[in-house]
Parts: sequence; C-alpha cells; structure tokens
Amino acid sequence: MTSAWDSDVVECKLCDHCEYRAERGKSTCCDQCTAQSDSHEAHCPRLSREVLQQSRWEHFRCDLGAEEEAVCLVVPPRAPKKGPAPVLLFLTGNGHVDDRQDFLSGGVDQLIRNNELQHYVLLAPKPLWKTGVLRYNHNWRNAWCEDAVWALVTEMLRRLGPENVDPTRLYATGLSLGAIGVWHLALRYGEYLAGIVPVSGKCEWPFKSWYQGRLDPAVAKRLEQIPVRCYQIDADRYGGTPIHDLEWLCWGLPETTREVTLKGMDVGRSVDVKIRSWERPNGAGNWELWEAKGPLTDWAYYDDWGGDKHCLWNRVYPFVDWGMPEFLASHSVPKDR
Ligand SMILES: [Zn+2]
Ligand SMILES: [Zn+2]
Repeated sequence: MTSAWDSDVVECKLCDHCEYRAERGKSTCCDQCTAQSDSHEAHCPRLSREVLQQSRWEHFRCDLGAEEEAVCLVVPPRAPKKGPAPVLLFLTGNGHVDDRQDFLSGGVDQLIRNNELQHYVLLAPKPLWKTGVLRYNHNWRNAWCEDAVWALVTEMLRRLGPENVDPTRLYATGLSLGAIGVWHLALRYGEYLAGIVPVSGKCEWPFKSWYQGRLDPAVAKRLEQIPVRCYQIDADRYGGTPIHDLEWLCWGLPETTREVTLKGMDVGRSVDVKIRSWERPNGAGNWELWEAKGPLTDWAYYDDWGGDKHCLWNRVYPFVDWGMPEFLASHSVPKDR
C-alpha cells in the first residue's frame, strides 16, 4: 500500500535543510529553517518523513451521491503500547476545505507532535466537497457532514480491526469548523464516543436538536453520557463561543473553578487559563471549559495583530501540559452502553 509520503493525495517532499516535510509550495518546513540555522518557528509542522511513511490515505465511498470517494489520513501509533490502541478522530477547520491550505500543516501535524498521544491511531478525513463529507449549515456556510464522517470512521475502525483498535476508546476533537463538527457528531452518535474535545467552536444545534427552547430528548440523553472538554479563547468571535450553551446545559450543577498558567507558543511566554468544571448528574464525567484569557500574547507571530483570538489549538494539540491527553486517558465508553 502506498504510504502518505509517496501518495499524491497530499504531495510530500523533504525540506531543503532538515529531515522534515517541506510545506506546500515552499522548499523548507518553515521560514526559520535555513542552511545556517536548524531552529524552527513555533508552529512548524515538524512532520518527519518516517511518520508519513508509516501513515496512509484510506479511500471510502461514504456518500453514494458524491462524485468521489472520501479520503482519510490514518496515522498508526508512533510508539505503540500493548493491546488495541485508542483512536482519536480529528476534524480540521475551514482553511483546509478543498485544499485551500496545505492539509498537513496547521492541524493534524500539531496532534502528531504531542508526546502523550504517540500510542493513538489518528484519523483525519480530508474536507473535500466532492467526496460528501461536507454539507451546508442553516446559513449556507460549510459544515462537516456528521453522517458521512461517521460512516467513514466506522469503516476505518473495521479496516483496522479489533486486534489493532479499541472501539471503547474512540475520541473526537476538532478545531473551529471541526469543533462545530465534533459537537454535531456527538449529537448524533455520542453514545459511541468516549469523549469530545472541541477547540474554538460551538454547536450549531442542527436538525432542530434544540428547538423552541427545548433540547431533543434523544440528543439530551446522548449528551448526558459523554464527557466534554471545550477549549476556547474568551475573546474569540470567529467560530462562535460554546460558553453560553455550557452554562445553560449545566445550569444548577455543582461547579468548580481554578486558574492555571500554561506554556505559550514562544519560549518564556505563557497563557492564563480559567478552568470551569461541572459535575454531570449521572457520573458520566464532568463537562469542562478551559477558557484562555485573550487575545493571546504568547506568540510574536501575532504581535502585530493585537494577539491571537482564535487559533488556540496551536497550544492545546502539541503541548502535553494543556491536558488533552490526560482528559482522553481518563474516559472510555462503559462496556454496558
Ligand atoms: Zn527544515
Ligand atoms: Zn521548521
């Protein structure tokens, strides 16, 4: 089978100066990597040829009416542990729709960097309209199509096989448009997910799931069972904020709050984060909001823009101390569900 490195789904070539993949249309992995210096920008994808040689693109027709088969990047465990591996589904943002930006930069690359996610299988569908994995939302904007994504994911699990992946430890995370997609996946298939981590995006409550002030009972039941961890910059006005929905859905539940300072993009800079946690009634796991105080000033790249108001995943995905691996590891789907 062709590896992701050799595939033409997303073209790969080596950086002129190091062992990482060069970004699309460039000769280097990032602008700091030169013949004189082997340092890298904070958000350099750092994708080694080796990881991409172990990874592959799987093809599957998940929508019979679609022009082409959907494609999904499958990244096997980089440091496997004994037994079937947990699986993390990643839904990317609007910038990657129809290849506007390099799919292997600014998304799945940052998850691959996380040292505590090295034993996971990563699944990353490519958002291409012609393959059926996208739909329009109520405002005629792009949205992930949750049913097509679910068909794709279950087929990937089937192909990987129960000896390689553990279906009780299937998690979903997404950034911006992908965060919205992860919420919608939970509305439909939440009982099969061990936890969700939406980053910088809110639920759009499609298909009258929340209609005239009332949550659809089937949806409410699914949400009751699923552990949720949201990451959001308080100043974010792009993907919408989940804060009001969380407050409404957790109204009256016991709440704890703490504040932490976490590693920032540039060495020596940090981000202040307020963690709100609500104890859900049936013991299925807390719902948490990790709210970063923005605009973020931890990254010189954004200094001229008045700070970063949206791209929180650049910290959450690669850096262990932002707590995502710990959250995932503490949850699995109960055997009796
Ligand atoms: Zn390089
Ligand atoms: Zn680099």
